[in-house]
Amino acid sequence: MRRLATLFTLLISVVAFAGSGSKAEPNRIWIIDVIIISPENLDHTEKGSVLIEDGRIARVERTQKAKRADGTIVVSGNGRYLIPGLIDSHVHLDSVPGIGMIPDQVKLNEPLAKSYFNHEDLVGTYLKQLPRSYLYYGYTTLVDLVAPFPQALEDFRHEPLHPDLYECNPSMPFANGYPMSYAPPEVRFKLFPNFIYDPKQAASIPPEYKPEDHKPAADVARVKNAGGICVKTFFERGFGAVRNLPVMGPEVLSEIRRAATANGLVLMIHANSFEAQRFAVAGDVDVIAHGLWNWGDLDKNPELPDEIKRLLDEIVEKRIGYQATTQVLYGLEAYFDPDYLKNPAVAKVAPKALVEWFKSPEGKWFGKELNDDDTPAAVVKQHYEQGPLRRVRQVVQYLASKDAKFLFGTDTPSSPTYGNLPGLNGYLEMRQLEKAGLSLKQIFLAATISNAREFKLESQIGTIEPGKVANLVLMTKNPLETIDAYDSITTVLVHGKPISRKDLAADSR
Ligand SMILES: [Zn+2]
Repeated sequence: MRRLATLFTLLISVVAFAGSGSKAEPNRIWIIDVIIISPENLDHTEKGSVLIEDGRIARVERTQKAKRADGTIVVSGNGRYLIPGLIDSHVHLDSVPGIGMIPDQVKLNEPLAKSYFNHEDLVGTYLKQLPRSYLYYGYTTLVDLVAPFPQALEDFRHEPLHPDLYECNPSMPFANGYPMSYAPPEVRFKLFPNFIYDPKQAASIPPEYKPEDHKPAADVARVKNAGGICVKTFFERGFGAVRNLPVMGPEVLSEIRRAATANGLVLMIHANSFEAQRFAVAGDVDVIAHGLWNWGDLDKNPELPDEIKRLLDEIVEKRIGYQATTQVLYGLEAYFDPDYLKNPAVAKVAPKALVEWFKSPEGKWFGKELNDDDTPAAVVKQHYEQGPLRRVRQVVQYLASKDAKFLFGTDTPSSPTYGNLPGLNGYLEMRQLEKAGLSLKQIFLAATISNAREFKLESQIGTIEPGKVANLVLMTKNPLETIDAYDSITTVLVHGKPISRKDLAADSR
């Protein structure tokens, strides 16, 4: 392993040197002696070699030997597995695990907390590590669905090493609904300026926001103009202490649907209840951004109820993209799992000072909020296991048996939890998907070609084929044989640039 890392280190300097010389000379790397695992070729994976030129895949040979041309650097993969870079199509890069939801920060840091992202403290260190943590687990492409602080995404793109980033921003919540409801009334419209107007709530919408500027078509046009590839909206009546939030009706969703189609944008909806997913399916959304763990009146049913099965069948038939996001729940459960912070992987993706703070009484504030009556941790854990986690596993298992269109998305971080750390959360989600009944092939496709196709990126990423961006991951184990493969990464290539995994770790700096 060390030998390869050295080779790659050498490689980087050689390539950089070549690049600084004559412009006409392309950067060429042959990766030879690798087993190519790519979605279009899963039935007969074989050893081969891949030529990378100027950050793109130029040739793929299904033979072991590569012809050596002048100026080409040859690197041996030593018989390891080469897969396309992974895609997580549900992240929130401006939200910091364990620290608190953005609106809480806004309360502390008005106006709008620009300085919050600039100061050099736990948050600053975390945001520097953030892109590297995703790469550490092989995620070379991300889609951010909601970012009230777009500056954080700009900063992410300016980091020297980062996954490719696409967005649905600015997101489109229903006026005063989820998630803008979490921010105090005086700032929520500033944080979510692309909200959908609701004439019934005219009295609680500041007068500077005109109804005609906040019709679905105007909002969708704003996403398109901002360079978004998807529209993110919400159907959520609330949970925990926040209930009875306003939600849109079917006419509003169908207006969004029309506008999204007209602009070529993917329509994604936050929906995790039976009611919300029924609403989403009736409205022909493209992607449901959560698993179905809230069954409403049917919550206590030990088996998957027939009426939910019928809805899931429709999701399968309509080929609606499905993000199970089970880590939303495991991320909450983390506060009641005495072993979570002891996982050595935590130190690989989160800066040491932040992890130390997670362990402090102050750093566990969100866990206290989740368990304000001090129920024993084991009891709370059991509550998650037998409640929402059982339900989402039943749903995912059913959908897997029908070969639904799963799209890999983690919702990292889904709340202020420290149980959703970047990169690691994806790996844990994959493990949970396997436990819930997805085959290794289903998981692999969900995180590569299915995501690429859904978001209309398949001409660029998702497989190992000529012409595509050389976002690639080299691993010692076969991802079609064991889920552990996703934690056996040795090298990640970002636009053809190889980076040794250990150099991406938070504890390597
Ligand atoms: Zn989300």
